[in-house]
Amino acid sequence: MPEVVLAVDGVRKSFGGVHAVDGVSVALERGEIRALIGPNGAGKSTFFDILTGQLRADAGAVVFRGERISGLPPHAIWRRGISRTFQITATFGTLTVLENVQVARLSATGRSLELLRSAGHQEVGRSAELLAQVGLLEQADRLAGVLAYGDLKKLELAIALANDPALLLLDEPTAGMAPAERGALMALTAAIARERDLTVLFTEHDMDVVFSTADRVMVLHQGRVIADGTPAAVRADRQVQAVYLGDDL
Ligand code: ADP
Ligand code: MG
Repeated sequence: MPEVVLAVDGVRKSFGGVHAVDGVSVALERGEIRALIGPNGAGKSTFFDILTGQLRADAGAVVFRGERISGLPPHAIWRRGISRTFQITATFGTLTVLENVQVARLSATGRSLELLRSAGHQEVGRSAELLAQVGLLEQADRLAGVLAYGDLKKLELAIALANDPALLLLDEPTAGMAPAERGALMALTAAIARERDLTVLFTEHDMDVVFSTADRVMVLHQGRVIADGTPAAVRADRQVQAVYLGDDL
């Protein structure tokens, strides 16, 4: 039996009268790469916020590697091995590329204050390794603020890997990138995930990227899962086609 890394049961979240996430249940297996797709406002980011502890669910349970994590604060969930990147890029522009990863490494090992005191030598080896994995080692000493957009996305990936996660959540990782770059970034992400036996859940609007990267695809519509299966099955699903009517599925 494959190991279930994440088990979500009946999670709900409303904002006023809007049922953003309306009873979502899902199980993610170790090593699988799952896409979470759905039109704007479907509830994808809200669902991610619940998984990472940024938002507290109104109902339901999230179990990660056998432990109930619903209600834990974000840093506690991050320490347990769930990492995420955001729809909006979040890096320190005035730190170097390497320092950005060092901060994340120190934070993951509970030593974030040390860097402020002795800015510099901690976690250099491990951080450089992460930069090498995402193809950014040559830019280690540049300020993050001057990176090209595509490289910034790679830096975010390195930062997200810094706590050695078991589950990586990527919210529109290729947003704002040129189509050709998108496929390359997701291929890189998938290769790293396969190597580490990492479970990945990602949202993405580019259907070419979704169908070429994901082992499974789940579709969210108005806070509910309306389809969940292989890329081929989801592509052929009539309800999914109706939701995406006019789009190139
Ligand atoms: P997606 O990421 O799929 O585009 P979201 O999770 O961002 O969707 O949003 C789902 C629904 O919840 C939308 O109707 C959105 O307007 C609403 N929503 C999300 N966050 C908030 C919030 N903080 N306050 C009020 N409404 C919100
Ligand atoms: Mg979103």
